[in-house]
Amino acid sequence: MKIVCVGRNYKAHALELGNSLPEEPVIFCKPDSALLPPRNPFVIPPWTQDVHHEIEWVLRIGKVGKFIEPRFAYRYLDAMTVGLDFTARDLQTELKNKGLPWERAKGFDGSAVLGTWSPMPAEPTDHQIRLEKNGETVQNGNTRDFLTPLEDLIAFISTYFTLKKGDIIFTGTPAGVGPVKPGDSLEGFLNDDSRLRLNIR
Ligand code: ZN
Repeated sequence: MKIVCVGRNYKAHALELGNSLPEEPVIFCKPDSALLPPRNPFVIPPWTQDVHHEIEWVLRIGKVGKFIEPRFAYRYLDAMTVGLDFTARDLQTELKNKGLPWERAKGFDGSAVLGTWSPMPAEPTDHQIRLEKNGETVQNGNTRDFLTPLEDLIAFISTYFTLKKGDIIFTGTPAGVGPVKPGDSLEGFLNDDSRLRLNIR
């Protein structure tokens, strides 16, 4: 199983980090060891002072596909939820400034958190994703605001990486990312349905 992530897929988030809008999707991967086991708290690693939450619409692949055409892409998805793409922003900034890969800042143990899955709707539709930190909404987005449409994202990713049953795709975060600290509690919603609850240690 692999985890493929999309960066800068919402205009407002790309701009809040001072990034330019990408000409083509920004893709990176997390190893399977990044998955936080269910019901575990998220423990901030000792080597970072600035871990950010990124709430994202998360998709699960239902069958193998390579060079998937956009018009068939939706058929390759079998489930959806919301997830957290935890990011060590201090280390990511350092690596970006040196022109180095981000993996250590994005793929560390526990950096991928999944909510509960539900089947994909029969037809593609827009979805609202929202994150509460300590009971207050801090991120609120809608997949209609993707810079690259879903079908084109799946096609693009499968041009480089064969997608296999069980693979997971994080589709990028809307604006409002920010730091977490020990004692915080996070709750993620998909279309106002609570899917994910997490304590920070
Ligand atoms: Zn992300």
